Amino acid sequence: MNTTPALRLDDVSQQFGALKAVDQVSFSVVPGARHAVIGPNGAGKSTLFALIAGLRRASGGRVVAFGEDVTALPEHRRVARGVVRTFQHSALFLTHTTRENVLFAVQREAGVSWSMLRPLRSRYALRDRAEELLAEVHLNGREEVLAGSLSHGERRQLEVAVALACRPRLLLLDEPVAGMSAAETARFKALIDALPKETTVMLIEHDLDLVFDLAETVTVLHLGRHLITGTPEEVRSSEQVQSAYLGAADTSDLFTDTTGGSQ
Ligand code: ADP
Ligand code: MG
Repeated sequence: MNTTPALRLDDVSQQFGALKAVDQVSFSVVPGARHAVIGPNGAGKSTLFALIAGLRRASGGRVVAFGEDVTALPEHRRVARGVVRTFQHSALFLTHTTRENVLFAVQREAGVSWSMLRPLRSRYALRDRAEELLAEVHLNGREEVLAGSLSHGERRQLEVAVALACRPRLLLLDEPVAGMSAAETARFKALIDALPKETTVMLIEHDLDLVFDLAETVTVLHLGRHLITGTPEEVRSSEQVQSAYLGAADTSDLFTDTTGGSQ
């Protein structure tokens, strides 16, 4: 069995002036895991993802992906190793169709890794690959719609297809269901469930119902620090976590069931 973690963080830190946005965070992510990162606003979750994806270089510590130290690598070189985030505030081409958006992404990826294929064969292969990805994110039937005319939830699905075109081994999703309706959220969850088991998925999420439903491992950050990494049960019953959340005014009800048929 392959026991090399998909990701290992060793004392990873990010300082913004006097602020320790990420403060000596260490934990590992098992290959194939659905691993959630939670914590009150400002906990350092998005900054941590930036350090993993290579948008920022950590000011301290090491980021090790699939056994390789990638701390000093820029984003595109981490993407080439399978570390891919969805691009927030949309890198989508809104005046192009859903299919074209995926095709552009597939072509971009092909430029890097498929250059050995003969041109004609590769053109068909690229188109097939785009169709496959559209089906994977449940956008079949929407191929001809302009990205700008998709619903909010469908755009998020398309963003995942664009990320999947990079053949991620570790996929990072930062609040993927924010702003989605209950129906869109359910559809998005099904999409994550259906991703290949070997794809490791890390997601930052505020919807704890979704987190505890989807993730087998949960990391809690608080004020830049790592509080706990454990199973949903371990996290729920952690007193440290309870008090961190209870101390944060805007999230005091995070561990109570507040669904009660709303939304
Ligand atoms: P989260 O995603 O958990 O809400 P962030 O990682 O966005 O938290 O932010 C963590 C802390 O770092 C916050 O206090 C935020 O204000 C600060 N921060 C984030 N990005 C920057 C930046 N580019 N410059 C200065 N401070 C930042
Ligand atoms: Mg954030």
